Amino acid sequence: MTDDPALSGLSGSIVHDEIVPARAPWLHHVAAGQTLRIVDVEGNQAVDFLIYSAADDAERYSAQDTVAAKGNLFLKTGSVLLSNEGRPMMTITGSAVEYHDTIGGACSCESNTLRYGHHTRHQHACVDNFLEANLTQGRGKRDMVSNINFFMNVPVEDDGTLGIVDGISAPGLTVDLRAEMDVIVVVSNCPQINNPCNAFNPTPVRMIVAA
Ligand SMILES: [Zn+2]
Repeated sequence: MTDDPALSGLSGSIVHDEIVPARAPWLHHVAAGQTLRIVDVEGNQAVDFLIYSAADDAERYSAQDTVAAKGNLFLKTGSVLLSNEGRPMMTITGSAVEYHDTIGGACSCESNTLRYGHHTRHQHACVDNFLEANLTQGRGKRDMVSNINFFMNVPVEDDGTLGIVDGISAPGLTVDLRAEMDVIVVVSNCPQINNPCNAFNPTPVRMIVAA
């Protein structure tokens, strides 16, 4: 038994447990049936997230298919994350945060420059993290697709306007994802400091895999 609250409710044995530093990329294989738990260690930390099929990485997460199948813009407990071939890749089996975003996209040097001014051109961004992690397996820019932003609050107003506003997460909150096929998970622990998605202070997250 453990008294680590971050492990509570996970069944099976812990096969991986790692802290991803603030601003860092992360790549990990999760086998079908395993559960990945992401812990927002210090709270309000956006976790940009891509999924590729381990068998054929031409099959990857599709925000559009996921949203269309669910008929809802927000990812919540029970949401099935679909591939571009319409197959379940992972299921959100538990979430301590009300909802997660999949329409806000990943920050890039280009989008930072456009939104926040040219002086942000050289700030580290999620697209760089995704590329750095993906390059280790031969994937490049053309393999980047619309992502999930766990713990990020992107409300949609009545007129369709998107916000990127103060987070609804808090220290120690978690989201659990069960792999429905063998997958490669690619993460950018978002380095953004120009909007409130990380409370202007990027912090570490913890990745736990239970088998
Ligand atoms: Zn970012």
